[in-house]
Amino acid sequence: MTLLAPPEPRTAPALAPGAFRTRPAQFERGAPAADDSAVQASWRALSARGEPTGAALMAALEAAGLSADDPRLTATRKAFADAGALEEDSFALPGEEAGLVCAALTGRLAAGDFQAFRGRITNLFHYASGVSGGTVASYIPELAKADPEAFALGCCTIDGQRFELGLREGDAARRFCVQSVMKPMNYALALELAGEATVHAHVGREPSGQGFNEITLNRKGRPHNPMINAGAILTAAMIRPGLAVAERFDLVCRLWRGAAAGDAPGFDEAVYASETAHADRNHALAYFMREHGCFPPEADMHEALELYLRCCAIETDVRRLACAAATLANGGVCPVTERQLISRESVKAVLSLMLSCGMYDFSGEYAFTVGLPAKSGVSGALMIVVPGVAGFALYSPRLGQEGNSERGVEFSRRLVQAFPWHVYAPIVAGPAEPD
Ligand code: GLN
Repeated sequence: MTLLAPPEPRTAPALAPGAFRTRPAQFERGAPAADDSAVQASWRALSARGEPTGAALMAALEAAGLSADDPRLTATRKAFADAGALEEDSFALPGEEAGLVCAALTGRLAAGDFQAFRGRITNLFHYASGVSGGTVASYIPELAKADPEAFALGCCTIDGQRFELGLREGDAARRFCVQSVMKPMNYALALELAGEATVHAHVGREPSGQGFNEITLNRKGRPHNPMINAGAILTAAMIRPGLAVAERFDLVCRLWRGAAAGDAPGFDEAVYASETAHADRNHALAYFMREHGCFPPEADMHEALELYLRCCAIETDVRRLACAAATLANGGVCPVTERQLISRESVKAVLSLMLSCGMYDFSGEYAFTVGLPAKSGVSGALMIVVPGVAGFALYSPRLGQEGNSERGVEFSRRLVQAFPWHVYAPIVAGPAEPD
């Protein structure tokens, strides 16, 4: 494989870091469509690329990172799909979609120059593919069958600009189970359904400093946090304990589907069966917690465990997972459907614990060097959130000693060398220029 040009270190960012104000105002739901000057600017941008036709307009939107099936462009697609040459005075964009189209054509989406951004991420991806260390998890027999060379990346900005990369043919579309990457989603759901006070009456917020399946509780006799197995089993116990497990699992799947812009997740039956047959440690954790009175009175330990194991076997791909990460980056609003799925308060809690506890007993090191909220799973899945900017998903089953994807960690390191996205990068960059 030939490597592309090396990534430029610390040059001007392609995406503005920072808060949700990077979202242009016209994308707020119910906001007025683009005004005349924005439409004219869009027309000029389209003309600058050659003869403005309906096909050229759609191609320009795709080049700006908006997928051909983006639901926010349904009316535009319909209006322009078969249109030949467009006239300046008949360049009427469908009202409710005009704001997005104008922003895309004039480089005002989160990734202003989407092609350049994609190119830089592609370079980082190829560098990370050079990592050949690590081994596939084998303690769940079905996971040991994973292809160690598989490597895929998905990216989705907070404006729903998306792309996927694969090292080899078929890698980008590969499906994999989420394993521990389900933990932030279940935690978000528990917060929404049970409230923060109840959730944290039962689960702590402190890194454990130990392995993800260690049989240990904090000084208050609670699991350390929702990102390790003990805490995740308890978190599962707080997702509508009065309902049947199937209904509770359906609530979890609905969240995954919403966060993936309506693409339903799959379920890996073989992994679920394999994991259930080898769940001695998780059973031990659950009994240990029940012995210590950790479960809320209305919760059933066996059901919590079943729900937890089911959620680990949820199947996704980098496209869906990146969209879920972008939903967290976007304050709980799916960037593609613009639906608020998780409250901002809950997202704040989820990201805080992903930052401090999301990478097993490598979390402190990751927070120090990468400085971004992330969550890994033993399948080799990794979700990285750049708040206010984008979400990334990686899949590479080669795991390092702490159980994180080796290539995923290498990509993370390079990402924050290339873009100033470490949570404290602005301090290093110095004071911002006044507007
Ligand atoms: N299903 C796995 C387990 O419970 C999840 C662990 C992980 O991804 N770290 O052991």
